[in-house]
Amino acid sequence: MVKRCSWGNTDDLLYRNYHDQEWGKLNLNEKYLYEMLVLESFQSGLSWSTILHKRENFRKDFAEFDVNKVVQFNDDDFQRLMQDAGIIRNRLKINAAINNAQVLVKWHQEGKNFAAFLTEFIPKPIDHHFKAEIDMPAKDELSTQISKTMKKAGFKFVGPTTVYSFLQAVGLINDHIEACDFK
Ligand SMILES: [Zn+2]
Repeated sequence: MVKRCSWGNTDDLLYRNYHDQEWGKLNLNEKYLYEMLVLESFQSGLSWSTILHKRENFRKDFAEFDVNKVVQFNDDDFQRLMQDAGIIRNRLKINAAINNAQVLVKWHQEGKNFAAFLTEFIPKPIDHHFKAEIDMPAKDELSTQISKTMKKAGFKFVGPTTVYSFLQAVGLINDHIEACDFK
């Protein structure tokens, strides 16, 4: 029988596939990093399943997570997002997503990128080898440090818990439990 982290054992296929194929797998593609940053910031206070089921709407609303397009969003775009029940209509989170695209575009113009920023903190993926999910923290020293540095750089909605989840999502932290076949 296939063994998974307990949260991956679900009939919700989207959620299970996310566990099996995406979560904890290293992906430092610049567009993917922005996508996960946006999704994780919207997740704050909600379930990840809720976000996953709205992911296609987010993709559509946020120009396939192309920061060069999001950075051009004007008031009309903001209103369009605020009126789309297919995503999470939260003013602060929508503002943060647009703001964070602005920071990334500025970085790109300066010859910097998100992947390089992150790998300076985490040169190679961290595997905690947790025996059980109960051992998994919601945040740690590293995510707190990255959170602080990102806030200083101008990012919004990037608290230590959001950053920790983000690092797991993009595979810089692999928190599949020891017994999981997908680690
Ligand atoms: Zn797992």
